[in-house]
Amino acid sequence: MIDNLRVFDKDPLHHVLKVIDDSAGGVALLVDRSTGVLNRVITDGDIRRVFLKGGNADSLLESVPYLKPVIVQEGESMDRVRQLMQNHSIQHIPVVDKEGVPVGLYRRDELEENVLLSPPHLGKDEMTYVSEAIETNWIAPVGPNLDTFEKEFCERVGSNAAAALTSGTAALHLSLILAGIEQGDRVACSTFTFVASVNPVLYQGGEPVFIESEDAGWNMCPRALEKAFVWAKKDGSPIKAVIVVNLYGQSARIEKIIELCVEHGAVLIEDSAESLGATYQGRSSGTFGKFGIFSFNGNKIITTSGGGMLVSDDVDAIARAKFLATQARESAAYYHHEVVGYNYRLSNILAGMGRGQLKVLSDRVESRRRIFSRYLSGLKELEFEWMPEIEGGYSTRWLSVGCLSRDSNVDISEFLNHLSKKGIEARRVWKPMHLQPLFENSQYFCIDGNELSASLFDRGFCLPSGSSLTESQQDRVISEIWEYVSSV
Ligand SMILES: *Cc1c(COP(=O)(O)O)cnc(C)c1O
Repeated sequence: MIDNLRVFDKDPLHHVLKVIDDSAGGVALLVDRSTGVLNRVITDGDIRRVFLKGGNADSLLESVPYLKPVIVQEGESMDRVRQLMQNHSIQHIPVVDKEGVPVGLYRRDELEENVLLSPPHLGKDEMTYVSEAIETNWIAPVGPNLDTFEKEFCERVGSNAAAALTSGTAALHLSLILAGIEQGDRVACSTFTFVASVNPVLYQGGEPVFIESEDAGWNMCPRALEKAFVWAKKDGSPIKAVIVVNLYGQSARIEKIIELCVEHGAVLIEDSAESLGATYQGRSSGTFGKFGIFSFNGNKIITTSGGGMLVSDDVDAIARAKFLATQARESAAYYHHEVVGYNYRLSNILAGMGRGQLKVLSDRVESRRRIFSRYLSGLKELEFEWMPEIEGGYSTRWLSVGCLSRDSNVDISEFLNHLSKKGIEARRVWKPMHLQPLFENSQYFCIDGNELSASLFDRGFCLPSGSSLTESQQDRVISEIWEYVSSV
């Protein structure tokens, strides 16, 4: 990027203006032709002043008077950069190497803007589909976008049928109803997850049983699940369904879990709210179980502002889900009801957004993976542990998740507070469900006392990972982390 900003003293001003205009930077950098050393920063204001003195577009850049540039060396602290911008009332500061050759550029707007964890990132087609819905008056929770979104979603993940719903939580709730979960039924669920994975079990009056994660990939440990199956059976109330969560963009190692569900006659539900776009052994996350659920909440890899999808190869089950999601209205000439229903259907407008977002999903996955690799190399020396990618798995790196080493002196809360003060939104990892007061009476299973999720909670962090994050924003995150962690 910095290469495109370079201009020379014999360049005509029309060329320099074009450089300023084309670059997102808003400046050009005048460098010495032979050494590449920075001579000054050129803004459009500088050129305007030449014009006011009678110059024109063909005047040469050398007609702009010399002004010593405000620069910083590589590795300068962000506080110092911000302070310099303030003191000099300038919007840009070039970063130079030891020889004085520009290697980067700080922009004030980027430095002052908060770096968010995972903000929405729109493509270019969302508005088209949304406008179409409005122009054709398909505003209700029926319509062509809804049908097409479901069809395109099925094609993308490789599923037979899908129901677009108001949220991922609604999708989970319906999957539990379809799995026949009722009052007092036991449902095993990953403990290392967001509470939305388990709330629907409570809606049904079910009893959650929590399963610890395994070191490989940090998702559900099959051995702990087996222990829970055996215990529940002996206890006289077997586990009827399993909710396996595919966390932070990565599928669980699912083959053993499938085997156990078959052996014990339990329905397998995949909570893939965070792992749309991920695969395991070439197959989409969310398509291994009887049901898979996805979320299009604002922070997920693609979003409809709010929304979710229930998928299954069982076409009849999905038809039933759509029936339940529209108040369970029986087909009759009047309003006739036999079972309890819900208002869970996604609107045709939001489905339009979903169609646009689905088109850019692959780009979003690539961006997030790229962001993760930059953190990995930029923070290499700090000895963080990063969420491992499982063999045969392809993670989207929905969030870049890591943790402090076990012997680190850094306090996780103070660390994240510090980043927050610097305008960087980083978060703790999920607090395990079995440690939540809401579930204090629930059963919990782990292997050999390895309470991995609790340990990850004590040390883990999620870094800004949005696919719209710029490289310089990411550099800012990296340098703030460096500064803090190496000073503790
Ligand atoms: C976001 C999320 C959900 C819930 O999805 P909503 O669309 O917000 O209801 C469920 N499980 C996990 C793991 C999530 O991250």
